[in-house]
Amino acid sequence: MSFEDFPSAFRGAVYRPGDAGYADARCIFNAHVADATPALIVRAEDEADVVTVARYATATGTPLAVRAGGHGVDGTAMPDGAVVLDLTRLDTIDVRPETGVVRLGAGVLLADMDATLEKHGLVVPSGTVSSTGIAGLTLGGGVGYNMRRYGATVDNLLSCDMVALDGRRVTASATENPDLFWALRGGGGNFGVVTGFEFQAKPLPPLVSAGFIVFPLDQAAAVLGALREYLPTAPRELAIIAVLTKCPPLPPVPPEFHGADVLMPVVVYTGPQEKAEPVISDVVALGTPVATAVGPMPWSAANRMLDVIAPSGRRYYTKGGYLAELSDTVIEIVVRNAANAPAPVHPMLPSAVQNVWAMGGAISEDFDEDSAAFSREGAAWMWEIITEWDSPADDDTFHGWLDNARADLTPHLRGNCYINLSTDNGPEWRRSAWGGEERYSRLVEVKTAWDPQNLLRFNKNVPPL
Ligand SMILES: Cc1cc2nc3c(=O)[nH]c(=O)nc-3n(C[C@H](O)[C@H](O)[C@H](O)COP(=O)(O)OP(=O)(O)OC[C@H]3O[C@@H](n4cnc5c(N)ncnc54)[C@H](O)[C@@H]3O)c2cc1C
Repeated sequence: MSFEDFPSAFRGAVYRPGDAGYADARCIFNAHVADATPALIVRAEDEADVVTVARYATATGTPLAVRAGGHGVDGTAMPDGAVVLDLTRLDTIDVRPETGVVRLGAGVLLADMDATLEKHGLVVPSGTVSSTGIAGLTLGGGVGYNMRRYGATVDNLLSCDMVALDGRRVTASATENPDLFWALRGGGGNFGVVTGFEFQAKPLPPLVSAGFIVFPLDQAAAVLGALREYLPTAPRELAIIAVLTKCPPLPPVPPEFHGADVLMPVVVYTGPQEKAEPVISDVVALGTPVATAVGPMPWSAANRMLDVIAPSGRRYYTKGGYLAELSDTVIEIVVRNAANAPAPVHPMLPSAVQNVWAMGGAISEDFDEDSAAFSREGAAWMWEIITEWDSPADDDTFHGWLDNARADLTPHLRGNCYINLSTDNGPEWRRSAWGGEERYSRLVEVKTAWDPQNLLRFNKNVPPL
Protein backbone atom coordinates (compact mmCIF):
# COMPACT_ATOMS: atom_id res chain seq x y z
CA MET A 1 0.00 0.00 0.00
CA SER A 2 1.21 3.53 -0.71
CA PHE A 3 -1.16 5.39 1.66
CA GLU A 4 -1.90 8.11 -0.93
CA ASP A 5 -4.81 9.22 1.28
CA PHE A 6 -2.46 10.19 4.13
CA PRO A 7 -3.85 13.50 5.48
CA SER A 8 -2.43 16.72 4.01
CA ALA A 9 -3.04 18.37 7.41
CA PHE A 10 0.09 16.58 8.66
CA ARG A 11 2.80 19.25 8.92
CA GLY A 12 5.94 17.17 9.43
CA ALA A 13 8.17 15.42 6.89
CA VAL A 14 6.74 12.42 5.01
CA TYR A 15 9.02 9.82 3.43
CA ARG A 16 8.14 7.05 0.98
CA PRO A 17 10.59 4.47 -0.43
CA GLY A 18 12.71 6.22 -3.06
CA ASP A 19 12.31 9.71 -1.54
CA ALA A 20 15.44 11.68 -0.65
CA GLY A 21 15.80 11.27 3.10
CA TYR A 22 13.94 7.94 3.26
CA ALA A 23 17.14 5.91 3.82
CA ASP A 24 18.20 8.16 6.72
CA ALA A 25 14.72 8.18 8.23
CA ARG A 26 14.63 4.38 8.09
CA CYS A 27 17.90 3.95 10.04
CA ILE A 28 17.66 2.24 13.42
CA PHE A 29 20.28 0.99 15.86
CA ASN A 30 20.26 -2.76 15.20
CA ALA A 31 21.39 -3.58 11.64
CA HIS A 32 20.20 -7.17 12.17
CA VAL A 33 16.57 -5.98 11.97
CA ALA A 34 17.04 -2.78 9.95
CA ASP A 35 16.49 -3.97 6.38
CA ALA A 36 12.71 -3.73 6.39
CA THR A 37 10.95 -1.33 4.02
CA PRO A 38 8.23 0.69 5.76
CA ALA A 39 5.66 2.06 3.32
CA LEU A 40 5.52 5.50 4.91
CA ILE A 41 7.62 7.22 7.56
CA VAL A 42 5.99 10.35 8.98
CA ARG A 43 8.00 12.58 11.28
CA ALA A 44 5.70 14.51 13.61
CA GLU A 45 6.46 18.18 14.21
CA ASP A 46 4.29 18.38 17.30
CA GLU A 47 1.51 16.73 19.24
CA ALA A 48 -1.11 17.93 16.74
CA ASP A 49 0.66 15.86 14.08
CA VAL A 50 0.49 12.82 16.34
CA VAL A 51 -3.26 13.37 16.71
CA THR A 52 -3.59 13.52 12.91
CA VAL A 53 -1.76 10.21 12.52
CA ALA A 54 -3.69 8.47 15.30
CA ARG A 55 -7.03 9.52 13.78
CA TYR A 56 -5.90 8.39 10.32
CA ALA A 57 -4.77 5.01 11.64
CA THR A 58 -8.07 4.45 13.42
CA ALA A 59 -10.26 5.65 10.54
CA THR A 60 -8.48 3.47 8.01
CA GLY A 61 -7.65 0.52 10.31
CA THR A 62 -3.96 1.03 9.56
CA PRO A 63 -1.49 -0.57 12.02
CA LEU A 64 0.97 1.98 13.33
CA ALA A 65 4.63 1.60 14.28
CA VAL A 66 6.26 4.14 16.60
CA ARG A 67 9.88 5.22 16.42
CA ALA A 68 11.49 7.18 19.25
CA GLY A 69 15.21 6.52 19.94
CA GLY A 70 15.27 3.59 17.49
CA HIS A 71 17.11 1.26 19.93
CA GLY A 72 14.47 -1.45 20.31
CA VAL A 73 16.25 -4.77 19.75
CA ASP A 74 13.36 -6.26 17.76
CA GLY A 75 13.33 -3.46 15.18
CA THR A 76 9.62 -2.89 15.80
CA ALA A 77 10.20 0.82 15.17
CA MET A 78 10.66 0.13 11.41
CA PRO A 79 8.57 -2.82 10.18
CA ASP A 80 8.08 -3.86 6.56
CA GLY A 81 5.19 -2.22 4.75
CA ALA A 82 4.07 -0.25 7.81
CA VAL A 83 3.22 3.35 8.55
CA VAL A 84 5.85 4.58 10.99
CA LEU A 85 5.24 7.54 13.28
CA ASP A 86 8.66 9.08 13.98
CA LEU A 87 8.79 11.10 17.22
CA THR A 88 12.40 12.27 17.04
CA ARG A 89 11.42 15.96 16.65
CA LEU A 90 9.57 15.92 20.00
CA ASP A 91 12.83 16.54 21.80
CA THR A 92 12.12 19.31 24.30
CA ILE A 93 13.56 19.13 27.81
CA ASP A 94 12.01 21.34 30.46
CA VAL A 95 13.59 21.33 33.94
CA ARG A 96 12.07 22.97 37.02
CA PRO A 97 15.17 23.20 39.26
CA GLU A 98 13.16 24.35 42.29
CA THR A 99 11.08 21.14 42.38
CA GLY A 100 13.23 18.75 40.34
CA VAL A 101 10.27 18.08 38.07
CA VAL A 102 11.40 17.39 34.50
CA ARG A 103 9.26 17.17 31.36
CA LEU A 104 10.73 15.34 28.38
CA GLY A 105 9.41 14.98 24.86
CA ALA A 106 9.22 11.44 23.51
CA GLY A 107 12.11 12.04 21.11
CA VAL A 108 14.68 12.82 23.82
CA LEU A 109 17.83 10.65 23.98
CA LEU A 110 19.52 9.79 27.28
CA ALA A 111 22.68 11.75 26.35
CA ASP A 112 20.76 15.01 26.05
CA MET A 113 18.69 14.35 29.17
CA ASP A 114 21.79 13.58 31.27
CA ALA A 115 23.74 16.60 29.99
CA THR A 116 20.86 18.98 30.73
CA LEU A 117 19.97 17.61 34.17
CA GLU A 118 23.61 17.42 35.26
CA LYS A 119 23.80 21.24 35.14
CA HIS A 120 21.18 21.27 37.90
CA GLY A 121 22.71 18.44 39.96
CA LEU A 122 19.81 16.20 38.98
CA VAL A 123 19.30 12.82 37.38
CA VAL A 124 16.44 10.71 36.07
CA PRO A 125 17.47 7.06 36.54
CA SER A 126 17.67 5.54 33.08
CA GLY A 127 19.83 3.22 30.94
CA THR A 128 23.54 2.77 30.35
CA VAL A 129 23.97 3.62 26.64
CA SER A 130 23.41 7.28 25.93
CA SER A 131 22.00 6.99 22.41
CA THR A 132 18.93 5.13 23.76
CA GLY A 133 15.57 6.92 23.64
CA ILE A 134 13.86 7.80 26.91
CA ALA A 135 10.49 6.79 25.42
CA GLY A 136 10.98 3.11 24.62
CA LEU A 137 13.18 2.71 27.69
CA THR A 138 10.58 4.16 30.07
CA LEU A 139 7.64 2.32 28.53
CA GLY A 140 9.48 -0.97 29.16
CA GLY A 141 10.67 -0.07 32.69
CA GLY A 142 14.19 1.37 32.57
CA VAL A 143 17.18 -0.01 34.50
CA GLY A 144 20.64 1.47 34.95
CA TYR A 145 23.35 2.65 37.32
CA ASN A 146 20.92 4.51 39.59
CA MET A 147 18.36 1.75 40.06
CA ARG A 148 19.76 0.50 43.39
CA ARG A 149 19.72 4.08 44.69
CA TYR A 150 16.54 5.49 43.14
CA GLY A 151 14.63 2.66 41.46
CA ALA A 152 13.72 1.94 37.86
CA THR A 153 12.95 4.76 35.43
CA VAL A 154 9.22 4.11 35.83
CA ASP A 155 9.51 4.43 39.62
CA ASN A 156 10.39 8.09 39.06
CA LEU A 157 7.66 8.82 36.52
CA LEU A 158 4.95 11.29 37.59
CA SER A 159 2.78 11.34 34.49
CA CYS A 160 2.60 10.72 30.74
CA ASP A 161 0.94 12.75 28.01
CA MET A 162 -0.57 10.31 25.55
CA VAL A 163 -2.42 10.63 22.27
CA ALA A 164 -5.03 7.88 22.23
CA LEU A 165 -5.75 6.09 18.97
CA ASP A 166 -9.03 7.97 18.59
CA GLY A 167 -7.05 11.22 18.71
CA ARG A 168 -7.89 12.25 22.29
CA ARG A 169 -5.06 13.86 24.26
CA VAL A 170 -5.00 12.31 27.71
CA THR A 171 -2.86 12.40 30.80
CA ALA A 172 -1.99 9.28 32.73
CA SER A 173 -0.87 9.66 36.33
CA ALA A 174 -1.63 8.29 39.78
CA THR A 175 -4.85 10.35 39.79
CA GLU A 176 -5.84 10.55 36.09
CA ASN A 177 -6.40 7.29 34.23
CA PRO A 178 -4.50 5.34 36.91
CA ASP A 179 -5.00 1.96 35.19
CA LEU A 180 -3.44 3.33 32.03
CA PHE A 181 -0.61 4.85 34.07
CA TRP A 182 0.05 1.45 35.68
CA ALA A 183 0.22 -0.18 32.23
CA LEU A 184 2.41 2.51 30.65
CA ARG A 185 5.01 1.95 33.36
CA GLY A 186 6.45 -1.24 31.87
CA GLY A 187 3.80 -2.52 29.48
CA GLY A 188 5.66 -1.23 26.40
CA GLY A 189 4.19 0.76 23.52
CA ASN A 190 0.85 -1.05 23.53
CA PHE A 191 -1.68 1.54 24.62
CA GLY A 192 -1.29 4.84 22.75
CA VAL A 193 1.37 7.21 21.48
CA VAL A 194 3.10 8.80 24.44
CA THR A 195 4.28 12.29 23.49
CA GLY A 196 5.74 13.43 26.82
CA PHE A 197 6.97 12.12 30.15
CA GLU A 198 7.08 13.98 33.48
CA PHE A 199 9.63 12.75 36.00
CA GLN A 200 10.62 13.59 39.54
CA ALA A 201 14.39 13.92 39.11
CA LYS A 202 16.71 13.09 41.99
CA PRO A 203 19.91 14.74 43.27
CA LEU A 204 23.28 13.55 42.00
CA PRO A 205 26.73 15.01 42.82
CA PRO A 206 28.73 16.65 40.01
CA LEU A 207 31.31 13.84 40.08
CA VAL A 208 30.77 10.11 40.40
CA SER A 209 33.38 7.30 40.52
CA ALA A 210 33.15 5.00 37.55
CA GLY A 211 35.12 2.51 35.50
CA PHE A 212 35.94 -1.17 35.34
CA ILE A 213 37.99 -3.83 37.09
CA VAL A 214 39.42 -6.79 35.18
CA PHE A 215 39.75 -10.32 36.61
CA PRO A 216 40.98 -13.28 34.54
CA LEU A 217 38.25 -15.85 33.87
CA ASP A 218 39.91 -18.40 36.16
CA GLN A 219 38.98 -16.10 39.07
CA ALA A 220 35.45 -15.45 37.81
CA ALA A 221 33.64 -18.11 39.84
CA ALA A 222 35.36 -17.05 43.06
CA VAL A 223 34.80 -13.33 42.38
CA LEU A 224 31.11 -13.81 41.55
CA GLY A 225 30.72 -15.93 44.69
CA ALA A 226 32.37 -13.17 46.74
CA LEU A 227 30.20 -10.56 45.03
CA ARG A 228 27.10 -12.53 46.07
CA GLU A 229 28.22 -12.30 49.72
CA TYR A 230 29.30 -8.66 49.47
CA LEU A 231 26.28 -7.17 47.71
CA PRO A 232 23.83 -7.14 50.66
CA THR A 233 26.35 -4.99 52.57
CA ALA A 234 27.09 -2.65 49.65
CA PRO A 235 25.71 0.90 49.64
CA ARG A 236 22.77 1.64 47.37
CA GLU A 237 24.91 4.26 45.63
CA LEU A 238 27.04 1.46 44.17
CA ALA A 239 26.02 -0.02 40.82
CA ILE A 240 27.72 -3.16 39.53
CA ILE A 241 27.33 -4.91 36.22
CA ALA A 242 29.61 -7.95 36.17
CA VAL A 243 30.53 -8.35 32.49
CA LEU A 244 31.87 -11.64 31.14
CA THR A 245 33.53 -11.24 27.76
CA LYS A 246 36.76 -11.41 25.84
CA CYS A 247 38.72 -8.36 26.96
CA PRO A 248 39.00 -5.59 24.38
CA PRO A 249 42.52 -4.09 24.05
CA LEU A 250 41.91 -1.39 26.65
CA PRO A 251 44.97 0.70 27.62
CA PRO A 252 45.24 -0.22 31.33
CA VAL A 253 44.92 -3.96 30.64
CA PRO A 254 48.25 -5.80 30.22
CA PRO A 255 48.66 -6.92 26.58
CA GLU A 256 48.63 -10.62 27.50
CA PHE A 257 44.99 -10.21 28.56
CA HIS A 258 43.86 -8.51 25.35
CA GLY A 259 41.38 -10.92 23.80
CA ALA A 260 41.43 -13.17 26.88
CA ASP A 261 38.26 -14.28 28.64
CA VAL A 262 37.69 -12.06 31.64
CA LEU A 263 35.18 -11.02 34.26
CA MET A 264 35.00 -7.26 34.16
CA PRO A 265 32.77 -5.62 36.77
CA VAL A 266 31.66 -2.20 35.53
CA VAL A 267 31.14 -0.04 38.61
CA VAL A 268 29.55 3.35 39.22
CA TYR A 269 29.46 4.89 42.69
CA THR A 270 27.25 7.97 42.96
CA GLY A 271 27.68 8.72 46.66
CA PRO A 272 29.94 11.46 48.04
CA GLN A 273 33.43 11.41 46.48
CA GLU A 274 35.13 11.23 49.89
CA LYS A 275 33.38 7.89 50.49
CA ALA A 276 34.17 6.38 47.08
CA GLU A 277 37.62 4.95 47.68
CA PRO A 278 36.73 2.36 50.35
CA VAL A 279 33.69 1.24 48.37
CA ILE A 280 35.64 0.71 45.15
CA SER A 281 38.41 -1.02 47.17
CA ASP A 282 35.84 -3.51 48.45
CA VAL A 283 34.98 -4.47 44.87
CA VAL A 284 38.64 -4.67 43.85
CA ALA A 285 39.25 -6.94 46.86
CA LEU A 286 36.76 -9.52 45.57
CA GLY A 287 39.73 -11.06 43.72
CA THR A 288 43.17 -10.21 42.34
CA PRO A 289 42.54 -7.97 39.34
CA VAL A 290 44.93 -7.55 36.43
CA ALA A 291 43.69 -4.00 35.83
CA THR A 292 41.62 -1.41 37.66
CA ALA A 293 40.46 1.73 35.90
CA VAL A 294 38.00 3.50 38.19
CA GLY A 295 38.08 7.22 38.83
CA PRO A 296 36.07 10.39 39.27
CA MET A 297 34.20 11.71 36.27
CA PRO A 298 31.03 13.70 35.55
CA TRP A 299 27.88 11.61 35.64
CA SER A 300 27.19 12.24 31.95
CA ALA A 301 30.60 10.72 31.10
CA ALA A 302 29.98 7.70 33.35
CA ASN A 303 26.66 7.08 31.67
CA ARG A 304 28.40 7.09 28.27
CA MET A 305 31.11 4.62 29.29
CA LEU A 306 29.51 1.71 27.47
CA ASP A 307 28.62 3.66 24.30
CA VAL A 308 31.92 2.69 22.74
CA ILE A 309 31.14 -1.03 22.81
CA ALA A 310 27.59 -0.57 21.50
CA PRO A 311 27.87 1.39 18.25
CA SER A 312 24.86 1.83 16.00
CA GLY A 313 24.86 -0.19 12.77
CA ARG A 314 26.16 -3.58 13.99
CA ARG A 315 24.01 -6.71 14.08
CA TYR A 316 22.70 -7.36 17.62
CA TYR A 317 20.87 -10.26 19.20
CA THR A 318 20.05 -10.27 22.91
CA LYS A 319 18.15 -12.22 25.56
CA GLY A 320 17.88 -11.88 29.29
CA GLY A 321 16.10 -12.81 32.46
CA TYR A 322 15.99 -12.45 36.21
CA LEU A 323 17.80 -14.71 38.66
CA ALA A 324 16.42 -15.32 42.14
CA GLU A 325 19.94 -16.11 43.29
CA LEU A 326 23.47 -16.22 42.00
CA SER A 327 23.89 -19.86 42.98
CA ASP A 328 27.07 -21.87 42.41
CA THR A 329 25.28 -23.67 39.58
CA VAL A 330 24.34 -20.39 37.87
CA ILE A 331 27.90 -19.14 38.25
CA GLU A 332 29.27 -22.37 36.78
CA ILE A 333 26.97 -22.03 33.75
CA VAL A 334 27.76 -18.40 32.96
CA VAL A 335 31.50 -18.94 33.39
CA ARG A 336 31.43 -22.06 31.20
CA ASN A 337 29.56 -20.20 28.49
CA ALA A 338 31.98 -17.28 28.70
CA ALA A 339 34.80 -19.73 28.08
CA ASN A 340 33.17 -21.19 24.95
CA ALA A 341 32.10 -17.84 23.43
CA PRO A 342 32.99 -17.19 19.79
CA ALA A 343 35.91 -14.87 19.06
CA PRO A 344 35.20 -11.20 18.32
CA VAL A 345 34.92 -10.23 14.68
CA HIS A 346 36.23 -6.70 15.29
CA PRO A 347 39.65 -5.94 16.83
CA MET A 348 38.32 -3.32 19.28
CA LEU A 349 34.78 -4.47 19.99
CA PRO A 350 33.38 -7.45 21.88
CA SER A 351 31.10 -9.91 20.09
CA ALA A 352 29.77 -12.11 22.90
CA VAL A 353 28.92 -10.65 26.28
CA GLN A 354 27.08 -11.78 29.38
CA ASN A 355 26.13 -9.12 31.93
CA VAL A 356 25.16 -9.98 35.49
CA TRP A 357 23.43 -6.91 36.90
CA ALA A 358 23.26 -6.45 40.67
CA MET A 359 19.70 -5.59 41.64
CA GLY A 360 18.66 -4.98 45.26
CA GLY A 361 18.29 -1.63 46.98
CA ALA A 362 15.58 0.77 45.85
CA ILE A 363 14.44 -1.07 42.72
CA SER A 364 13.82 -4.26 44.71
CA GLU A 365 12.84 -2.97 48.14
CA ASP A 366 11.19 0.46 47.81
CA PHE A 367 8.57 -0.22 45.15
CA ASP A 368 5.84 -2.84 45.26
CA GLU A 369 5.48 -5.37 42.49
CA ASP A 370 1.92 -4.06 42.10
CA SER A 371 2.97 -0.42 41.69
CA ALA A 372 3.65 -0.74 37.94
CA ALA A 373 3.43 -3.18 35.04
CA PHE A 374 7.25 -3.40 35.12
CA SER A 375 7.90 -6.65 37.00
CA ARG A 376 10.74 -7.10 39.47
CA GLU A 377 9.48 -9.65 41.97
CA GLY A 378 12.16 -12.07 43.15
CA ALA A 379 14.80 -10.51 40.91
CA ALA A 380 17.98 -10.45 42.96
CA TRP A 381 20.14 -10.38 39.82
CA MET A 382 19.51 -9.81 36.14
CA TRP A 383 21.33 -11.81 33.47
CA GLU A 384 21.65 -10.35 29.99
CA ILE A 385 23.38 -11.92 27.01
CA ILE A 386 24.35 -9.92 23.96
CA THR A 387 25.99 -10.80 20.69
CA GLU A 388 27.12 -8.18 18.19
CA TRP A 389 28.76 -8.70 14.83
CA ASP A 390 28.80 -7.23 11.34
CA SER A 391 28.27 -9.75 8.55
CA PRO A 392 25.09 -11.80 7.90
CA ALA A 393 27.48 -14.69 7.20
CA ASP A 394 28.16 -14.83 10.97
CA ASP A 395 24.48 -14.85 12.01
CA ASP A 396 24.43 -18.58 12.76
CA THR A 397 27.58 -18.47 14.90
CA PHE A 398 26.30 -15.72 17.16
CA HIS A 399 22.72 -16.94 17.31
CA GLY A 400 23.95 -20.46 18.05
CA TRP A 401 26.20 -19.54 20.98
CA LEU A 402 23.62 -17.22 22.51
CA ASP A 403 20.71 -19.65 22.14
CA ASN A 404 22.74 -22.50 23.68
CA ALA A 405 23.87 -20.35 26.59
CA ARG A 406 20.30 -19.23 27.22
CA ALA A 407 19.01 -22.80 27.06
CA ASP A 408 21.63 -23.76 29.67
CA LEU A 409 20.47 -21.05 32.05
CA THR A 410 16.73 -21.17 31.38
CA PRO A 411 15.92 -23.59 34.26
CA HIS A 412 17.38 -20.98 36.62
CA LEU A 413 15.64 -17.91 35.16
CA ARG A 414 12.48 -16.60 36.71
CA GLY A 415 9.26 -16.43 34.67
CA ASN A 416 9.08 -12.67 34.96
CA CYS A 417 11.71 -10.53 33.28
CA TYR A 418 12.58 -7.06 32.04
CA ILE A 419 11.01 -6.95 28.59
CA ASN A 420 13.38 -4.36 27.09
CA LEU A 421 16.55 -6.39 27.54
CA SER A 422 15.48 -9.35 25.45
CA THR A 423 14.27 -9.93 21.96
CA ASP A 424 10.67 -11.12 21.94
CA ASN A 425 10.31 -14.82 22.77
CA GLY A 426 6.70 -15.19 21.69
CA PRO A 427 3.22 -15.22 23.26
CA GLU A 428 3.91 -17.74 26.07
CA TRP A 429 6.94 -15.78 27.23
CA ARG A 430 4.93 -12.56 27.16
CA ARG A 431 2.19 -14.05 29.31
CA SER A 432 4.69 -14.53 32.13
CA ALA A 433 7.15 -11.70 31.43
CA TRP A 434 5.13 -9.11 33.34
CA GLY A 435 4.75 -11.34 36.39
CA GLY A 436 2.09 -13.92 35.61
CA GLU A 437 -1.48 -14.41 34.42
CA GLU A 438 -3.19 -11.93 36.72
CA ARG A 439 -0.91 -9.07 35.78
CA TYR A 440 -1.03 -10.04 32.10
CA SER A 441 -4.85 -9.98 32.24
CA ARG A 442 -4.67 -6.47 33.68
CA LEU A 443 -2.56 -5.40 30.69
CA VAL A 444 -5.05 -7.03 28.32
CA GLU A 445 -7.88 -5.06 29.95
CA VAL A 446 -6.05 -1.75 29.50
CA LYS A 447 -5.09 -2.69 25.94
CA THR A 448 -8.70 -3.54 25.12
CA ALA A 449 -9.90 -0.22 26.53
CA TRP A 450 -7.36 1.93 24.66
CA ASP A 451 -6.43 0.01 21.48
CA PRO A 452 -9.24 -2.45 20.73
CA GLN A 453 -8.14 -2.85 17.09
CA ASN A 454 -4.53 -3.61 18.11
CA LEU A 455 -3.29 -0.89 15.77
CA LEU A 456 -0.19 -0.65 17.99
CA ARG A 457 0.97 -4.20 17.34
CA PHE A 458 4.64 -3.61 16.48
CA ASN A 459 5.91 -4.12 20.02
CA LYS A 460 6.06 -6.80 22.72
CA ASN A 461 2.42 -7.19 21.88
CA VAL A 462 -0.45 -7.67 24.29
CA PRO A 463 -3.37 -8.50 21.99
CA PRO A 464 -6.75 -7.08 23.09
CA LEU A 465 -9.75 -9.29 23.87
C1 LIG B 1 22.84 -0.78 23.08
C2 LIG B 1 21.63 -0.85 23.95
C3 LIG B 1 21.77 -0.62 25.31
C4 LIG B 1 20.66 -0.66 26.14
N1 LIG B 1 20.83 -0.45 27.48
C5 LIG B 1 19.75 -0.41 28.29
C6 LIG B 1 19.90 -0.13 29.68
O1 LIG B 1 20.99 0.09 30.18
N2 LIG B 1 18.78 -0.08 30.43
C7 LIG B 1 17.54 -0.29 29.90
O2 LIG B 1 16.56 -0.21 30.65
N3 LIG B 1 17.38 -0.59 28.60
C8 LIG B 1 18.45 -0.65 27.80
N4 LIG B 1 18.30 -0.96 26.47
C9 LIG B 1 16.97 -1.35 25.98
C10 LIG B 1 16.13 -0.15 25.65
O3 LIG B 1 15.50 0.31 26.82
C11 LIG B 1 15.04 -0.55 24.65
O4 LIG B 1 15.65 -1.01 23.49
C12 LIG B 1 14.09 0.60 24.35
O5 LIG B 1 12.94 0.07 23.71
C13 LIG B 1 14.70 1.63 23.45
O6 LIG B 1 13.84 2.72 23.32
P1 LIG B 1 13.96 3.64 22.03
O7 LIG B 1 12.99 4.74 22.19
O8 LIG B 1 15.39 4.01 21.81
O9 LIG B 1 13.59 2.61 20.89
P2 LIG B 1 12.52 2.52 19.71
O10 LIG B 1 13.03 1.42 18.86
O11 LIG B 1 12.28 3.83 19.07
O12 LIG B 1 11.22 2.07 20.45
C14 LIG B 1 11.05 0.73 20.87
C15 LIG B 1 9.56 0.43 20.87
O13 LIG B 1 8.95 1.15 21.93
C16 LIG B 1 7.67 1.62 21.51
N5 LIG B 1 7.66 3.07 21.63
C17 LIG B 1 8.74 3.90 21.63
N6 LIG B 1 8.35 5.16 21.87
C18 LIG B 1 7.01 5.13 22.00
C19 LIG B 1 6.04 6.13 22.29
N7 LIG B 1 6.41 7.39 22.51
N8 LIG B 1 4.74 5.76 22.38
C20 LIG B 1 4.38 4.47 22.19
N9 LIG B 1 5.26 3.48 21.93
C21 LIG B 1 6.56 3.81 21.85
C22 LIG B 1 7.45 1.11 20.12
O14 LIG B 1 6.75 -0.12 20.20
C23 LIG B 1 8.85 0.85 19.62
O15 LIG B 1 8.89 -0.16 18.66
C24 LIG B 1 19.38 -0.93 25.60
C25 LIG B 1 19.24 -1.16 24.23
C26 LIG B 1 20.34 -1.12 23.41
C27 LIG B 1 20.18 -1.39 21.95
